[in-house]
Amino acid sequence: MNKFPKIARVESFIVSIPRDTPYLGPLGPGEFINSRGYLIRKGNRSIYPDSDMSVLVKVTAEDGTVGWGETYGIVAPDAVTSIIDDVLGPVSIGRDPRDVMVIQEDLYDMMRVRGFFGGFYMDAIAGVDIAIWDLFGKLVGQPVVKLLGGQRMESIPAYVSGLPAATLEARLEMARGFCARGFDAFKYAAAVSHEGIVNEMRVLRDGLGPKVKLMVDLHWKFTAQEAVQLIGQLEPFNPYFVEAPCQPEDIEGQAHVGANIRVPLALGEEWRTVYEVRPRMERRAMSIIQPEMGHTGISQFMQIARMANAFHVKVIPHASIGIGIFQAASLHATAALANCPMHEYQHSVFDRNLRYVKTTMRCTEGAFVLPEGPGLGIEPHDDVWQFVRAKGAV
Ligand code: MG
Repeated sequence: MNKFPKIARVESFIVSIPRDTPYLGPLGPGEFINSRGYLIRKGNRSIYPDSDMSVLVKVTAEDGTVGWGETYGIVAPDAVTSIIDDVLGPVSIGRDPRDVMVIQEDLYDMMRVRGFFGGFYMDAIAGVDIAIWDLFGKLVGQPVVKLLGGQRMESIPAYVSGLPAATLEARLEMARGFCARGFDAFKYAAAVSHEGIVNEMRVLRDGLGPKVKLMVDLHWKFTAQEAVQLIGQLEPFNPYFVEAPCQPEDIEGQAHVGANIRVPLALGEEWRTVYEVRPRMERRAMSIIQPEMGHTGISQFMQIARMANAFHVKVIPHASIGIGIFQAASLHATAALANCPMHEYQHSVFDRNLRYVKTTMRCTEGAFVLPEGPGLGIEPHDDVWQFVRAKGAV
């Protein structure tokens, strides 16, 4: 057992793949792409890149086996790669990949008293953590899900996230196209509901019928009282859940909304650790949490999801911008859970970027199919390297 290969090398890469249509759909009134390639959505005052940007992490063992991870590089990806290259990578070298959860705790501990329990630091840890889990799985010849306590699901129901078309009529048509392909759950984005949030749900409900699941991401736009009022207006259209009505810091507001609406409330794509989840759980702010693998990594994701189970809260994981590696990690982790009815399907990112990875992972007929093979069952395709940008470049 002493011969088990140790971590020998940790590398990071910034990937930036051009898009035809920006994330969340065509630019709205007054929105523009700046000199750094970023746009700010007026509807939620959040910044997005005009390309699909993420950070890849490659961890190589002494025997040459390679594990792949991925994390957020949505803006300022050099911040993430600097943390990995300067801090996390060097201290991970020489560690046993089977100790992945211990390594994750150690990486967290190094900066916790300096105030870094979120943001770029945790994203960087997530990327390294996912890569070490992949490496561990490959070295022992097992899919990651089998190392997480056991597999409950072979495939995972998917909900279609975002209907990125310019008009409401075109969005309804897009949803109908997905229905024809076996999908029955849809979430639209309030940040780009230019024809009205309640109106959009009415049009989708009328157009798609009573059986589909409809959800709306309220994108942190409202005060607690505004949210209660708005969600009351959505209730006749029977939403499956409403997401993120209040600003992320507003724990009392989240709890107020949760206590005063009759629609399930989903929160948490921005939380990185159990320490952010716990106070919301204690206040019973939500009935669904949405952990994002690109922020949490596998080790924290599992702790968050197990905590949710203890509070009888469901887990419907978030999906974001990447080439598919943290998405694959999210499917492995989700497949081990007892309390997950479905997973977000970020189709405009997922489908397009599948060409840049080697994997059997798919999302068809309303469900994700878990990738096959040891580890995560996914690695970058040779075609992705043309989109790796030099560190420090624009
Ligand atoms: Mg969201």
